Amino acid sequence: MIKIGIVGYGNLGRGVECAVSKSNDMELVGVFSRRNPETVKTHTNVPVYEMKKVYDMKDQIDVLVLCGGSANDLPKQTAELAEHFNVIDSFDTHAKIPEHFEDVNKASVNGKHISIISVGWDPGLFSLNRLYGQAILPNGNDYTFWGKGVSQGHSDAIRRIEGVKDARQYTIPVEVSLESVRNGENPDLTTRQKHTRECFVVAEEGADLERIENEIKTMPNYFSDYDTTVHFISEEELMRDHKGIPHGGIVFRTGTTGFDNENKHVMEYKLTLDSNPEFTSSVLVAFARAAYRLASEGQYGCKTIFDIAPAYLHPATGEELRKNLL
Ligand code: NAP
Repeated sequence: MIKIGIVGYGNLGRGVECAVSKSNDMELVGVFSRRNPETVKTHTNVPVYEMKKVYDMKDQIDVLVLCGGSANDLPKQTAELAEHFNVIDSFDTHAKIPEHFEDVNKASVNGKHISIISVGWDPGLFSLNRLYGQAILPNGNDYTFWGKGVSQGHSDAIRRIEGVKDARQYTIPVEVSLESVRNGENPDLTTRQKHTRECFVVAEEGADLERIENEIKTMPNYFSDYDTTVHFISEEELMRDHKGIPHGGIVFRTGTTGFDNENKHVMEYKLTLDSNPEFTSSVLVAFARAAYRLASEGQYGCKTIFDIAPAYLHPATGEELRKNLL
């Protein structure tokens, strides 16, 4: 049995708890939280410990799955814990991945442990499919579309506007652009042509709705470059119709082969996810298995999804995989 510890109990923490409970080769040792453990109730009643207790339980844990936020938690937590444990995280601030890799790698090499960073779907499975696409069709174009799905960052940005009580923002790919890519037309797409944004907003009583709508639509970086629709709804409607965290998207590689580039190819990898965090957690748990196996072989240092051979993810043996899946 692979012994798993969860660090941080939010959406991903709960998702990892669920995925581990359904994995026959894994068991959950505990959840480690920065909050008072008495205030954190787990779904399966697995014990919750205060964060510093993790160091006393080193011998009982094979891999720590780090479920903190990318903005403030993981840059510190992953490097700190990587010196003492095999760890895996879903760090998704794309621009800062090289820096994060350096910090975590140093710690993992020092402690002779394995770490795998930025595992999930984007970064993660989408990154892998972009890599496959470029390697296989060097003469081609990349396209990534996100959605339809909830963007937490954009929802948070709306919530920060004065007079907004709550909000949910959906990112939606533009269908005609998807079709154009699928047809191998290799379009040059502007930001506006790739995605639209749809916002469901609960306003405070008496708030100026026109001002809120205008502030959303003109918000730089988040909305001003997109066609944005704003709907004002009640708190009950938000809870009833928008409480899930769906997401997904499509990675395309379109390219040509043949001496005269006469043959066109389209590679399309699509995810449609009811729950972004539960799916991400399931990816983390599969890669935690890989971390365990790599560590068992005596390997150490930091890896990303690009470095992990697929067979390390699957519970079956190489022989079984060759017989049943190849
Ligand atoms: P979250 O629910 O906000 O949880 C983040 C941390 O906040 C938890 O680990 C927890 O730490 C703390 N927390 C949770 N609930 C709390 C509460 N009620 N009160 C106080 N603190 C609380 O975030 P998440 O949805 O799990 O996502 C975590 C990260 O995953 C995101 O930042 C995102 O970057 C990343 N992500 C990556 C991908 C990908 O494809 N790579 C996909 C999805 C998400 P403590 O228990 O220590 O307090």
